[in-house]
Amino acid sequence: MTEQKIKRHFIQRIIDEDNLTGKFDNKVLTRFPPEPNGYLHIGHAKAICVDFGIAEEYGGQCNLRFDDTNPTAEEEEYVNAIKEDVKWLGYHWDNLCFASDYFQQMYDYAVQLIKQGDAYICDLTADEIRNTRGSLKEPGNESPYRNRSDDKNLDLFNRMAKGEFPDGSRTLRAKIDMTHPNLNMRDPVMYRIMHAVHHNTGNTWCIYPMYDWAHGLEDSIEGITHSLCSLEFEDHRPLYDWFLDRLDVFHPQQIEFARLNLSYTVLSKRKLKKLVDGDVVNGWDDPRMPTLSGMRRRGFTPESIRKFMDEVGVAKRDNVMEITKLESILRHDLNKRSQRRMAVLNPLKVIITNYPKGQIEELKAVNNPENDKAGTRQIPFSKEIYIEKDDFMEDPPKKFFRLAPGREVRLRYAYFIQCTKVIKDDDGNVVELHCTYDPETKGGSAPDGRKVKATLHWVSAEKAIHAEVRLYDRLFAKPKPDSEENFLDVLNPDSLKILENCKCEPSLQNVGIGEQIQFERLGYFCKDPDSSNDHLIFNRTVPLRDTWAKIEKQIN
Ligand code: ATP
Ligand code: MG
Repeated sequence: MTEQKIKRHFIQRIIDEDNLTGKFDNKVLTRFPPEPNGYLHIGHAKAICVDFGIAEEYGGQCNLRFDDTNPTAEEEEYVNAIKEDVKWLGYHWDNLCFASDYFQQMYDYAVQLIKQGDAYICDLTADEIRNTRGSLKEPGNESPYRNRSDDKNLDLFNRMAKGEFPDGSRTLRAKIDMTHPNLNMRDPVMYRIMHAVHHNTGNTWCIYPMYDWAHGLEDSIEGITHSLCSLEFEDHRPLYDWFLDRLDVFHPQQIEFARLNLSYTVLSKRKLKKLVDGDVVNGWDDPRMPTLSGMRRRGFTPESIRKFMDEVGVAKRDNVMEITKLESILRHDLNKRSQRRMAVLNPLKVIITNYPKGQIEELKAVNNPENDKAGTRQIPFSKEIYIEKDDFMEDPPKKFFRLAPGREVRLRYAYFIQCTKVIKDDDGNVVELHCTYDPETKGGSAPDGRKVKATLHWVSAEKAIHAEVRLYDRLFAKPKPDSEENFLDVLNPDSLKILENCKCEPSLQNVGIGEQIQFERLGYFCKDPDSSNDHLIFNRTVPLRDTWAKIEKQIN
């Protein structure tokens, strides 16, 4: 029991305590509140796992709420993408909510504050408001419009909402304290005028609520008990509390936790949008993007992302997680679930001179040594095959154990072959090998017990299918692109490499889009949605590590 208690993170401890005191009648209702101004990234996945995870753990509920209070940045496309991503991660929302559905209620609450003398219409421009706000060292200055009568304020607010005034000419501000040590409390703006079409409410409104005013109301209206958010909102909590206290409405508890930061990438929709708009990547779901849609396309599994979040944990302090940690969890997951196939990325033709012409043999191959249930398949073997260019060296250094003139190696699931002749073009490039095979070694071992030092993957040249393979690397060359002056200056120029002439075993024709496959000795791959029947495209999710990692590097 004690041990269990120690392991609980600080949010669980707060909720445990609330349940002991009956603060929220032992109810737990959380929400995940994205603004639909971009696609979700892996940082959001942390929030999703925390929000939905906590609700699940306590037998509560979690809402998916679109925080759609800024019409200029928000789009229906993003709403749909966000829903898909949350589902893909394996979570189900109890209620689907839109902040914009509460615009009328928020307006009525604003009227209540004006009537109480807690809010006023201010005619200062955005710049003037900023300039009179003071600083951490200096108090702010009160607006000359601060002491308008409630009636005047009500009249102006009403006319603001009717569209009588141009954008930026007036705001509704909370009347709190211009000398407050927390800058967020210095008469923050609650509403701004913006004549813009909203994706949900159309032209109904031309005033829109600011985040701090809206968010607590959204939580309160939905009856959220624990409003979980990232650490940058800590300084906003006093304001969150102030609004709800003044209105005397249901008051959720805001709790902040550390954001997820990941090495070699940026996690901000605004920055990711720059990559998309600047054509640095091919859309939000480019497999190099840290978006959930990009990661899905790349071949990440939702299970690996959730497992990663378990390991990241929930804490109060910000830190940067290593992308290698995520990749290692991913490999572990893919190793268990991926079927094995053979594909040659940089083909070198091998002719087996003593193999009967026209003969095709079907050899048995194991689909997944980690999972008996995955069964076996047949792979065709023939006189002409392809091996990986880098699996041959004419003049091999000491530690190179793969194919070389005179040397014998094993072909996976097939035979031992020995290299007898090297054919070159006029420039001296090796273009073809001649080998002999030993029929006695079928299945991979020699009856006389002789050994070989390497096993190569291969495909039958006669039966091979053609594919394009896309190899991805980190999008940024520096581990913390966010701390650079301009994150766009540290892009990795080699983040995408396209191999157009790859050869695959025929069974790869039928794999489904996104289905994870291990190409033996090379890594994990999946079929890209851009594929068609006569143009197959595979994305490399992640290379294999350890022993094969070095070879893999040479191949690329
Ligand atoms: P971005 O800067 O990428 O737009 P945001 O915080 O503005 O992120 P929202 O759509 O407002 O994005 O976020 C929805 C929820 O996701 C918020 O509760 C926010 O705290 C959380 N969130 C966003 N990024 C991260 C992150 N890197 N780690 C943990 N939670 C995050
Ligand atoms: Mg945001």
